[in-house]
Amino acid sequence: MSVQVNKLRIVNYPHPVLRQKAQPVEAVTDEVREVGLRMLQLMHEAPGVGLAAPQVGLAWRMFVANATGEPADDMVFINPVLSKPSREVEDYEEGCLSLPQIKAEIRRPKAITITAMNLDGETVSLTSDQLPARIWQHETDHLDGVLIIDRMTAADRRANRKMIKELEAAD
Ligand code: ZN
Repeated sequence: MSVQVNKLRIVNYPHPVLRQKAQPVEAVTDEVREVGLRMLQLMHEAPGVGLAAPQVGLAWRMFVANATGEPADDMVFINPVLSKPSREVEDYEEGCLSLPQIKAEIRRPKAITITAMNLDGETVSLTSDQLPARIWQHETDHLDGVLIIDRMTAADRRANRKMIKELEAAD
């Protein structure tokens, strides 16, 4: 196994992997399944509602999510594709496990559809206009190297400037 799953940790901005465009997962192998389970564990420990593979140092198109914290709601999305964004947008405060202490109101389509493979290698398509829609968009951004600091308003950028600088200095 090339990935040491137990050594995976959440990496913080400005780690360069967070700015890479992640590559498609070619097949749902045992390694991919182990990484998915480890990511779910790290997300719950943090705790958070979503975690993308680049956030654990892997430039893979894959993320995990759980909008409720209930184990039954654990989801793994492999090679996700978003479609049918609603024209209606919503401002909602987001955080990010790779940007500790930074919060910002981000405007995104309220509803969206996601199509992805799960850990069983099945293709699943879901639509949401609730928190999952928000998580899917935030996490899919990670797969393209996009962070909330890129989408925040000028006012939020000013409000978070000190924290962003501290993260950059800690690197
Ligand atoms: Zn994030």
